[in-house]
Amino acid sequence: MKEVAIITNGETARRKAILETRLMELIGGALGREELQIENLADPIDQIKSSTDREMAVQRLNHESRQVRDIQTALAAIDEGTYGLCQDCEQPIPRKRLDAVPWARLCVPCQSKVEAARDDGRATLSDAA
Ligand SMILES: [Zn+2]
Repeated sequence: MKEVAIITNGETARRKAILETRLMELIGGALGREELQIENLADPIDQIKSSTDREMAVQRLNHESRQVRDIQTALAAIDEGTYGLCQDCEQPIPRKRLDAVPWARLCVPCQSKVEAARDDGRATLSDAA
């Protein structure tokens, strides 16, 4: 089976399938863009609720588009044979972390550093499960 020679390990093949499925879900769902349509509402209370919903949708959109990039990076890394290595310190990412977050590009300590810098202390725990 020469055409699958890149994947030497059943675990990586399984994760690749998970990543591809997740990527299709994210892209297929159009990243929830339909929720961002601005509605013309008369009731101010409805408007407040709507802008909160919109803000949440925007946050989810940002999170999902970041995840799409991470998944694409992970799939490329699988093809290159570098999947599962931290992109910062180049240490292997623990298997438990890859089970929880198959698109993880960084080990937990490096991820924490990046999130602390990016979010100015408001680090999200969703990627570090
Ligand atoms: Zn690291």
